[in-house]
Amino acid sequence: MVNEVIIVVDMLKGFLEKGNPLFCGDDSRRIIPEVISLLKGYKAEEIIYICDSHDEDDREFNIFPPHCIKGSEEGKIIDELKPFKGMIIPKTRYSGFFNTSLEDDLKRLKPDKVIVVGLCTDICVMYTVADLRNRDYEVEVPQRCVVSFDEESHNFALRHMEKIIGAKVV
Ligand SMILES: [Zn+2]
Repeated sequence: MVNEVIIVVDMLKGFLEKGNPLFCGDDSRRIIPEVISLLKGYKAEEIIYICDSHDEDDREFNIFPPHCIKGSEEGKIIDELKPFKGMIIPKTRYSGFFNTSLEDDLKRLKPDKVIVVGLCTDICVMYTVADLRNRDYEVEVPQRCVVSFDEESHNFALRHMEKIIGAKVV
């Protein structure tokens, strides 16, 4: 059992490094030092990485160009976060709960609070936060640690997570 769990969403080379089809832009990299300074306060058993890991013919590719294929370089966590060990959970949909072990892992850890960081604010972060709230977890989203390629959607998602989903945006 732990007091807090920090869920790091999709901080992968495919989204944060130039040259990849879904690179979220240079500005998205501003969250990297912020996430690093936050992770320094957590132990490995309190850190959970939720990572896009798609099959080559994943139906998500009807919406987005192919990205983060299982086993590819794109699907790896960025090198900057290497010093911070944690549990790695591959996912294929926006929510970290869909067809993953996250539900069982959280039941085992029994955190009082779950912090969610990473990207994109309006996609995988928001759907994971919603599924956490549906399971009655107390959720905190540090706004300096989340980002989207779409600033307007980022701002909408922060408001929506706070006012409608019931997360604490700090
Ligand atoms: Zn994806």
